[in-house]
Amino acid sequence: MADQENLFDIVVIGSGPAGFTAAIYAVRGGASTVLFGGVAPGGQLLQTMEIENYPGFIDPVVGADLMQRMMKQASRLGAKVLQESVASLDLSQRPFRLKSSGGKEYLARALILATGAQARWLGLPSEQKYTGKGVSGCATCDGFFFRGKDVAVIGGGDSAAEDALFLTKFANKVYLVHRRDKLRANFRLQEKLRANPKVELVYDHVPQEFTGEAKLTGIDLKNVKTGEIRKLAVTGAFIAIGHTPATELVKRALKLDDEGYVITSERTATSVPGVYAAGDVADTHYKQAVVAAGTGCKAALEALAFIEGCEKK
Ligand code: NAP
Repeated sequence: MADQENLFDIVVIGSGPAGFTAAIYAVRGGASTVLFGGVAPGGQLLQTMEIENYPGFIDPVVGADLMQRMMKQASRLGAKVLQESVASLDLSQRPFRLKSSGGKEYLARALILATGAQARWLGLPSEQKYTGKGVSGCATCDGFFFRGKDVAVIGGGDSAAEDALFLTKFANKVYLVHRRDKLRANFRLQEKLRANPKVELVYDHVPQEFTGEAKLTGIDLKNVKTGEIRKLAVTGAFIAIGHTPATELVKRALKLDDEGYVITSERTATSVPGVYAAGDVADTHYKQAVVAAGTGCKAALEALAFIEGCEKK
C-alpha cells in the first residue's frame, strides 16, 4: 500500500509478544510494516527463565527462545524488524512522524504502541548507591555472579518468586523479602519456594537501607508491624517489585491514566485516531504474555481497518 521509501502503513513500537503479534497480523493483512525493537528485541520475556503457561509448548520454553521465534516469524512474513528505538514521535498530523535513535525519519499511516513496562525500583538513595555493586534489577542477568553467596530478593509477586528460585541455582541462600504476610505469586511458584531448602521467606519486612563499603554487604530490613530492624548479611539484592508502563514517548500526546498506562477502548484505540496500544503499556490488570499477544492482534486488525477506511474516503 505505501509508496515512499520511509512511509509505512503500520509502524509498531516495541518487541515483546504484543509488538511481534501486531507485526505478524499487520503484514499478513497486506500492510507494509516496520517494527522498532530497540537494541535487544524481546521485551520483558528476555528476563524470564521458563514459561509454562504460553499455549503450544508442552515443555517449558525459555523466554528468550520464545521471543526469537516470534521475531523470526514476523521477519519471515515480511515485517521489517529494526534494532533501533524511536527517539521522538509527532502524532499531531497524519501520516504520523517518527525519528529513530539513528536520526532517520519515518512516516506511519497507523501506529501501534507496544512499549511494555519497565522494572520499578524502591527509590532509596542507598539502593541507587549500590546498583551494579550488589543491587540488581535482573536476576537472570546477574545471578551467575553470586555463586555460593547469600542473596535477597525483594517482592512478593511472580517475578520475585521466579527470581528467588532461579537464584537458588547459584546462591548459598536466598531470602525472599515481602512487605506483607502473604505472597502474591501464583500457587505453583509458592509450592516450589516452600519446597526449596535454600529459600527463606521473610514476611512483613521492607528494606530500609542497603549497607556496605565499596560493595553491598547487607540490608537493614524494617518490620512493618513492629518497626524493629533486622540486619540481613547479603552481598546481592534483587529488586522485583513490579513494573511501570513505558510511556515516556507518548506522555504528552496520548491520554494516560493516573498510573501512566495508555487509556484504550476495548478495541485498543487510544485518544488519537490511528494510534493503537497493545500489551503491558495499556494493561493495568493481566500483564500476561498471552494477553499481550492477543491485544497485539486486536491492534493490528484495528490499524488495518483504519488504513482501509482512510483510503476509501
Ligand atoms: P506484581 O505482580 O505487581 O508484584 C509486585 C510485588 O512487589 C508485589 O508482591 C508487591 O507487594 C511488591 N511491591 C510493590 N511495590 C513495592 C514496594 N515499594 N516495596 C516492597 N514491595 C513492593 O509484579 P511482577 O511480579 O513483576 O509481575 C507482573 C505481572 O507479570 C503479573 O501479572 C505476573 O502474574 C506476571 N508474571 C508472570 C510470570 C509467569 O507466569 N511465569 C512470571 C513473571 C511475571 P504486594 O503484594 O503487597 O502488592
